[in-house]
Parts: sequence; C-alpha cells; structure tokens
Amino acid sequence: MRQSLARELNDLLERGRDRQLRLAVTGLSNSGKTAFLTSLVYQLRHVGLEARLDLLPAAREGRLLGAKRMAQQDLGVPRFPYDQAMEALDATPPRWPEPTRGISELRLTLRYRPARSGLFQRDTATLTLDLFDYPGEWLLDLPLLGHDYLSWSESQPFDPDARRQGERHALFADWLDAVSTLDPAASADEAQLAAIAERYAQGLRAARAAGFSDLQPGRFLLPGDLEGAPVLQFFPLPGLGDRDRATLAKLPEDSVYQTLVRRFAHYQQHIVKPFYRDHFRRFDRQIVLVDVLGALNAGPERFEDLSRALGTLMKSFDYGKRSLLSRLFSPRIDRLAIAATKADHVTPEQHANLVALLEALLAEPLRDLRFAAVPVRAMSLASIRATQAREVEHQGKRTAALRGTTLDGEEVLVFPGEVPARLPDATFWSRQGFDFRAFRPAPRENGTLAHIRLDVALEWLLGDKLQ
Ligand code: GDP
Repeated sequence: MRQSLARELNDLLERGRDRQLRLAVTGLSNSGKTAFLTSLVYQLRHVGLEARLDLLPAAREGRLLGAKRMAQQDLGVPRFPYDQAMEALDATPPRWPEPTRGISELRLTLRYRPARSGLFQRDTATLTLDLFDYPGEWLLDLPLLGHDYLSWSESQPFDPDARRQGERHALFADWLDAVSTLDPAASADEAQLAAIAERYAQGLRAARAAGFSDLQPGRFLLPGDLEGAPVLQFFPLPGLGDRDRATLAKLPEDSVYQTLVRRFAHYQQHIVKPFYRDHFRRFDRQIVLVDVLGALNAGPERFEDLSRALGTLMKSFDYGKRSLLSRLFSPRIDRLAIAATKADHVTPEQHANLVALLEALLAEPLRDLRFAAVPVRAMSLASIRATQAREVEHQGKRTAALRGTTLDGEEVLVFPGEVPARLPDATFWSRQGFDFRAFRPAPRENGTLAHIRLDVALEWLLGDKLQ
C-alpha cells in the first residue's frame, strides 16, 4: 500500500514536470498493435543510428539522443514481449510477431536536448514513456455499463424472427438452438448454463474468425486468465424486451433469468469497470489502429460490421460532459491518433484515399470528438513495411505496383487494387475486387526496420514533449 502510494506520488511529480507520458495503443485483434509497438520501440531505441525518423523533428534535428528500456513500475501488468517480437522478425525466414492477447506494458526513458537549450548548451532532459497495449475488444464493453441485463440482452442483434438470416446469425446457430428452448423462469442448472454460454462464446469466436468485429462482451473473445470462470457464463435471451420487465422482476432468485442478471452485474463491476478505473483513466495519449484494408478485403457485411464496432469503440474517447465515461471515470486522454495500418498493402498513391476512407468510416465519432475539443488526427501508416513500391509497364502505360513475398514464400509483383475515398456502396462492391494479400516481413537490411509514417504518428503523439 505504502509502496503504491509512493509510486503514485512519484508518477505525479514526474508528470508535473512533464517528464512522464503514458501512451496507449489499441485496436481490434489483427489491427496491427503488436507490430506497431514493436516497431515504435525499435525505432526509438535506434534513433540516430539505423532508424529513419525524418518526420519527427526532434530526431531530424539530432536532438533525440536515444531510448533505454527500464523496469516498469506496475508489476501487475505483463511486460510487452519486445525481445520475442524482434526474434520473430529476425528469424530466417522472418515471421510476424505473435500477437499479444491482453494488456501489456513497456517503459522507455528517452534522452533529448530541448529545442530551447541554445546551440552551445549541453543540457539534456529525459522523458519517461510508458507504453501500453490492450485489446480494442475491451472497449466494446463500455456501452454495457449503460445497460442492465434486460436492456443489454435486447440490444444484441438476435431477433428470433430473423433467425438463420445473414451470415452472422448462421455462426450463432448452435447457440440460438440451445437458447430457444431455455425457459427464463426455470431453476438455473449450472451445467446447462455453462454449456449454453460456451456455445455463445463459440459463436463469438467463429464470428471473429470470419472477420466480424462488433461482438460483445469483449472478454468472451479474449478471456485471458478468466477462461471458464462463471463470470463469463452469461448470454442474451433473444425475444425478451422491456415489456416483460415487470414479470421477469418477480421471478425467483434461482431462476435462469435472475442468475443471468447477477452474472451480468458481476461482469460490469468486476471486469469492465476495473479496466477503466485502473488503466484507461491513467492514459495520457492514445492511438487507435484500424485494419481498414482487411475489412475492405472481407466484403460489405464485415465492412459495415467494422464500422459499427468502431463507433462503439470510439465512445471510450468521447469526453463530452455528459458521456457515460466522463461521469464514471473522468479520463484524461488529451490527444488521439487514429491510424489505418498496413499501408504497405497498397501502392503509395492510394494512401490519401486510405486516410479519406478511414475518416469516412469514423465520421460520426470524429465529429463528436472535435465537438468535445479532443485533438485528433487521422493517418495511414505501415509499422513494418513488407513491400517495395515499383512501377511497371502495362500495355504501354506505367502503373504502380508492389513487390513482396507472400506468407508461403512466393515472390510476387502485384497491383492490389484501388482504395475508395468514400464509404463503398453496393455497386462498388459488385464492381470491384480487392486483392490485399498478407506479406511476409522483409529481412532487415543493415539493421533498419522499414516503416511508413511511423514517425508522423510519433510526432503527433509525443513530439511536443520533446520540445
Ligand atoms: P494485433 O492482433 O493487433 O496485435 O495485430 P498484429 O500486430 O499481430 O498484426 C496482425 C497481422 O497484420 C500481422 O501478423 C501481419 O500479417 C499484419 N501486419 C501488421 N502490421 C503490418 C504492417 O505494417 N505491414 C504489413 N504488410 N502487415 C502488417
């Protein structure tokens, strides 16, 4: 206790002198968090050596002197597996790092010469940079705090009449079968509830694997050490609504319905709230990564689903005075970046469209953020560039193309497709095919880990702290 008080005080002092920054990276699974954080740490540690960070003025001007890894203070948070990630990238052939599945942290101390220190002054300053990586799926749970069990259940997209329609429903068919015969008034049978909850979780996992994103509750997908715990054994009851509220409220404590109500409340109090209270509330800056290209590749149903999921996810950054979040936790993120990742999957002249599409996808949350005066910037980047931009001659015309190595080791030269600058409509989907395929990371040449605009992200997220 005393130790943690001392730590909080120390953090407070450091922050007061503007020498500590807590920067968080999030995004849904496969959005590129692990690659981003690995590359970010690599570039900062190799600043002035192999790293190319021309768009970060402190680096370009030679004022950023280096970065050192430090022992993190919060011993309850796993360490970000940087060494393992670098080992994978340096393997023959190179591999993508294993993705992280929960929250992790890494602390760096940056040494820099302040811009104002004058030409002949030798003064250096340090900035402690705490980096956090956590699943965007956890943010999908925020709206759950604004519900009770019944209203949450009703808000889930399982209309019993629409059963078997749409691909998403089909993935939940097993669970829908099981839950349709469950009587909310019957005595709860632990084993039966566990079995039905497992089918629900299986549905969520199958939907995730099929490229869907708007899935709740978030911890069911990434349970970490909660695997199998009864707190993760609830699910919606399709068909019940507010009109049934009075009748349901009278059901006995040991009924199926009341048991689900208790588990839902426990999940809110003991899983969702602690993340916001113990971690999220303490972040200073945040970058949200979005795999826009992956969603384009996966077709219209997934693309719309990603759009819905991002709308939900971004609610965690809406600090309007009356937002649920502000009322509950008074967070303090004062700057936000939103990045479309894996930009090296398309040719460079498509990058402007990629940013425009990201902005279109997030139009509503961006409007809310700007209204709430949260500085936010949208960009596109590749944390670890796996392709080379080329020009090829095709029927007398020069066109842009990409050279890279596929995951199975085949060298290819491709034009992956055009990125629409606006939300694609039905005709667009029927007309255009996308071929954004996965590439193997390139072997590092002379120690560099090539990226695209990672330095732009760094400048936006911490450049002002290196002044
Ligand atoms: P996470 O689940 O959000 O941590 O995502 P990862 O960082 O594990 O990235 C998921 C996959 O996306 C990786 O295995 C790569 O195949 C791909 N990826 C991530 N970043 C990049 C990038 O900058 N360029 C390319 N070409 N692929 C990337």
